[in-house]
Amino acid sequence: MSKETYFVDVIVPVSVPNRYTYRVPFDWNDKIKEGQLVLVQFGRNKYYSAVVGKIHTRPPKVYEAKYLETIIDERPLVNSFQLSLWEWITDYYMCNPGEVMTTALPGGFKLSSETKIILNRQEELSGELTGQEQSLVTALEHNESLDINKASQLLGKKSIHALVRQMLDRKLILLEEEIKEKYKPRKESWVTLTGEFSTEKGMEKAFSLLGRAAKQEDLLLAYIRETNWKEGECPEIKKSALLEATGFTPAVLKGLVDKGVLQEFQKTTGRIPIFDGTLVPIPKLSEEQELAKGETSSQFLAGKEVVLLHGVTSSGKTEIYAHLIQEQLDRGKQVLYLVPEIALTTQLIQRLQRYFGDAIGVYHSKYTQNERTETYLNVAFGGRYNIILGARSSLFLPFSNLGLIIVDEEHETSYKQFESNPRYHARDTAIVLAKLHNARVLLGSATPSLEVYYHAKTEKYGLVKLNKRYGNQTLPEIWCADEADHKRRKLMRSHFTDMVVQHVAAALENKEQVILFQNRRGYSPLWMCESCGWVPGCDRCDVSLTYHKMKHTLNCHLCGYTVQPPRQCEACGSKSLKMLGYGTEKLEEELHTFYPDARIARMDLDTTRGKDAFQNLINDLEDKKIDILVGTQMVTKGLDFENVSLVVVMGADRLLKYPDFRSYERAYQLLAQVSGRAGRREKKGKVIIQTHQPEHWIIKRVMENDYEGMYAQEIQDRKTYRYPPFYRLIRFDLSHREKEKTYYAANLLARLLREKLGRDLLGPEYPAIARVRNRFHMHILLKYSRTASLEKVRSYIEDKLLTYHQDNQTKGVYVQVDVDPV
Ligand code: ADP
Ligand code: ZN
Ligand code: ZN
Repeated sequence: MSKETYFVDVIVPVSVPNRYTYRVPFDWNDKIKEGQLVLVQFGRNKYYSAVVGKIHTRPPKVYEAKYLETIIDERPLVNSFQLSLWEWITDYYMCNPGEVMTTALPGGFKLSSETKIILNRQEELSGELTGQEQSLVTALEHNESLDINKASQLLGKKSIHALVRQMLDRKLILLEEEIKEKYKPRKESWVTLTGEFSTEKGMEKAFSLLGRAAKQEDLLLAYIRETNWKEGECPEIKKSALLEATGFTPAVLKGLVDKGVLQEFQKTTGRIPIFDGTLVPIPKLSEEQELAKGETSSQFLAGKEVVLLHGVTSSGKTEIYAHLIQEQLDRGKQVLYLVPEIALTTQLIQRLQRYFGDAIGVYHSKYTQNERTETYLNVAFGGRYNIILGARSSLFLPFSNLGLIIVDEEHETSYKQFESNPRYHARDTAIVLAKLHNARVLLGSATPSLEVYYHAKTEKYGLVKLNKRYGNQTLPEIWCADEADHKRRKLMRSHFTDMVVQHVAAALENKEQVILFQNRRGYSPLWMCESCGWVPGCDRCDVSLTYHKMKHTLNCHLCGYTVQPPRQCEACGSKSLKMLGYGTEKLEEELHTFYPDARIARMDLDTTRGKDAFQNLINDLEDKKIDILVGTQMVTKGLDFENVSLVVVMGADRLLKYPDFRSYERAYQLLAQVSGRAGRREKKGKVIIQTHQPEHWIIKRVMENDYEGMYAQEIQDRKTYRYPPFYRLIRFDLSHREKEKTYYAANLLARLLREKLGRDLLGPEYPAIARVRNRFHMHILLKYSRTASLEKVRSYIEDKLLTYHQDNQTKGVYVQVDVDPV
């Protein structure tokens, strides 16, 4: 054993700028490893699980290093690829290592003294409990939940984090979820034959026991048939499957169970879907697809680390991905398949599991902590999942051997985490992760982001095009319904143009499905007093409230504030309040009156809150139980339905006047994507855009399916006005409950930054919505040339932020730094 004194730099799941150095007890010199989870005391009497970074022999200069308390798990849970990725994120996105750790690891690894644990009552205790485990189980039997601190006291120990970690893995206990939804593994009833009847003789005896109960006899025969029963065996079958096969009620089965012939028992199934169908080969590629795939591979071979697959909607990009995934599996490599929305994983997983079975796992934040921990451990040590399909957080899984990362719908803004640190962009982070593994990145989109397309055009990335839809399907025809013209000619039917009404009717007549898109949920976005123009607004934010008819409430879509609608104007007292504009809820209601026989459903935040709600809507649409689906942008992204022939876009005008330099790009992407949902199989698709501006250049580009044209014009503006991809952006968001404080702080920071970055600094200014949740915001935007040294700019900013924080009047003002804001 080495006699040296070792120190480790650890990352604690707390937002502090530095790593902390702890001392390793001599005995552990041979045990301590990078990436292990250890317990440390941090601050007074607080204990946290921390991740071991560098191991070295240099004691810290300015404080006396404390000893590590425990090694919580001897297996390194975080590998060196991950540690490097964390470090890159910390630097590039200017945040703290603890914030990255908090985002990167599932809850089961972030134990603190306050972490609450509960007994897992769903699980049968399996195997022997150690004495310590038994004590904790007993303590938990007497308490609804305990925090680790309290539990340690009850057990008379200084810390029990390692014990907790071990019991979490054995599923003896659970973390009390911070989300209210408690972990409920799904239970299914199964049926099996009682052992003593499993011989030929025994079976005879069983039948004689049934006497003259004919139905019970039939059920037993069905059991034998359905399970392929052979002498000496007690095969298991799902209760529901057995009953379905016979058409009997559970009462018949109960008769057999009461006589002891069959037994009923419960099986726990996780929510991570387990594939039990039959595998099918990946479809053969069409000629164009084969070409595109070949071109992609050869660009990778020629040394391009990133390739953009620019394929029109429904060109079959997914099938190409599938073939490329198979090639990686054949080489023994792991694949990460990123999608922008959790919702998309549900449709894709069904498709991909048929090709890859249980080799593919799903990972995203809607899974419980326990489920995420399970998948994480599996990727680290289990070896079951070689493919992970997931939303952005799956970048943080412990991959050890990545060969390929697919970033589907690369242009989607939901790849950026913008609510909290680290404010990382999953696409850009994926490129860094791939580099660490010497893996390749395939970006896919029908409407690439300008940044990515620019890199592809300038040959930093490879570019592969797929201009045809699969199966000779043509792109949908796109028409405009001119709202102004309809109004003039008195051809509006409430909010719909006559043209839209007619075409929806025709589609319904043909038994085809319709998707109707309106980017606003709720019933009516604006209430207004007819006499004085007063509009009810949020108490905490500078926005007007949206009326929700079903609940009869006015809601703030920013902060969730909810009130009963006023019965009269709060300003002038007038009783005539009118509703202006329309959201999805109202459109749904009007469609019911136009098409009383149609089955109409709505897909927006309000209707998809429940865990399975989204999946149910998708299933219903697939099973043709829905004729018209009304929805917000949720309906625009990547969904693939065969019978949708008509897509209607309402309120396109709003998309075109968003106050942002990216608004045209976004409008094009949204309109082209939602159009792409139409006519994906045999039927020719049709799209109607209802707008006041049919001559708008963006609408024209969409109608002509002219991405190149849109790009050519936009990129010119970006260059002229010094925006990405030519310039990088960093946005500083300052906020405080007092407007004056925000104003003071923002001006101070801007002044400091301006010393050197003068010409590239915009602001401070109030954003479009200056007050949110009672905090006043101001923004400062820094633009700097792509050619400037990133490190220099960053260290300059960090230096100025230190000066800024020395001013007492900035106390209490939040400063959020967003690198590459979207
Ligand atoms: P994209 O992702 O480019 O929008 P998809 O991959 O969803 O397109 O393909 C569109 C539809 O065409 C899907 O239903 C898919 O199953 C089908 N398809 C694409 N390529 C093939 C192929 N080679 N063989 C059979 N079906 C295909
Ligand atoms: Zn009024
Ligand atoms: Zn609000």
